Amino acid sequence: MPKTLIEPFRIKSIEPIRMTTRAEREELLVAAKLNVFKLRAEDVLIDWLTDSGTGAMSSRQWAAIMEGDESYAGARSFFRLETGIQGITGMKFFVPTHQGRAAEKVLFTAVCKEGQLVPNNCHFDTTRANLEYLGVEAVDLVIPEGLQPATIHPFKGNIDLDRVAQVLATDAARIPFGMITVTNNTGGGQPVSMANLRAYAALLKRHGKALIMDACRFSENAMFIKMREPGYENTPIADIVHEMFSYADGCTMSAKKDGMVNIGGFIALRSEEWMDAVRNLLILTEGFPTYGGLAGRDLEAMAIGLEEGMHEDYLRYRLRTAEYLGERFEAAGIGFVKPTGGHAVYIDARTVLPAMPVAHYPAWALCNALYLEGGIRGVEIGSVMFGKRLADGTETYHKMELVRLAFPRRMYTQSHFDYAAEVIAEVKQRASSIRGVRLSKQSPYLRHFTCECEWVGA
Ligand SMILES: *Cc1c(COP(=O)(O)O)cnc(C)c1O
Repeated sequence: MPKTLIEPFRIKSIEPIRMTTRAEREELLVAAKLNVFKLRAEDVLIDWLTDSGTGAMSSRQWAAIMEGDESYAGARSFFRLETGIQGITGMKFFVPTHQGRAAEKVLFTAVCKEGQLVPNNCHFDTTRANLEYLGVEAVDLVIPEGLQPATIHPFKGNIDLDRVAQVLATDAARIPFGMITVTNNTGGGQPVSMANLRAYAALLKRHGKALIMDACRFSENAMFIKMREPGYENTPIADIVHEMFSYADGCTMSAKKDGMVNIGGFIALRSEEWMDAVRNLLILTEGFPTYGGLAGRDLEAMAIGLEEGMHEDYLRYRLRTAEYLGERFEAAGIGFVKPTGGHAVYIDARTVLPAMPVAHYPAWALCNALYLEGGIRGVEIGSVMFGKRLADGTETYHKMELVRLAFPRRMYTQSHFDYAAEVIAEVKQRASSIRGVRLSKQSPYLRHFTCECEWVGA
């Protein structure tokens, strides 16, 4: 058998990407105040800022777009998607939303109250923000290995059941439901095992609590279970997915991830009472419950995308892509979060720029260098994102300096990955000439999106 794992699709429609010169990129980056969020996408060669809503749809999805029923109420496209989602989740009640955070906002507003507490492996940032906005405490209880970049563990997204038991023992009255995020995006796209899901659900059930799954990457999680969890080697993905959802009482979903679409999301629930409350709120902000802020055509594309996202050949190729880039990094002596997750690779910037002081923001500097040297856009997950400037002018720093390269689905080929590996190895070779930055302008919240920087020493 040939050992090269190929892209399990061929290209029918292409979108040119533009090569720029280094001199052009230097000018563009300076104009963007050394912040890659401020670049125009057109000026980026390989855009690995996020895997959210950025992937390529299939010819079947594009064809289904023409089938969209744009009726205000009771559209055919809704019922088609409903049947698909009921089949995948085994949950009876479903409403579409325009994306994941809308699902969170509506569900949490419907069932949570101020002063409550929600445990999760790691809350995604919008999940946390939506809970905190309602005065609900968002508690992250991922296993300790999930916070150690270099530690190898097959399921670094698992929730720490002992800590869940402690929280339930002391605070059960404050808990409306438990959550679990598959895969654990904030923790590096790391999977949750079936055994962990099963035990967590059972623990919650003993206290009469529901389990809500943040299901954004349920297919990638299922493939990890198939590859890593004894007993599932020969189980079809659809059956693994079915079992995963069988432990949940509901889910929120951003279909911009494993739903394989550019926009869309949903809430699915077993409880009619909760769904009644959800529908009432949905009408206020998202729209009538059979379209939930989307067009009929979006519902059609999502129905097919959810199904295509579970194809085993696709998933094998998808997870292999990240793993392959990890192997290239390993060979070049570049550190990264191990093992590689489903949708992204997280470079440990300190291993590329070991001499750069944290005050010069090495992960941010590496991000800039990847753009300058190769036109690649990643995202800093380090001290610009998570550090803070205090009132006395001093700074707090994050414990890790990571650069996340997140891969849009079905979009970049192996040669794009080879190119990126070469660019990063080249940057490492020239580490001593890579410049750090200082922040010349920043906002008090989420400063990485809008901050302006200058080269250190300029
Ligand atoms: C993307 C994401 C969300 C939010 O979804 P949006 O579609 O971006 O609003 C929630 N949870 C996780 C784990 C995600 O990755």
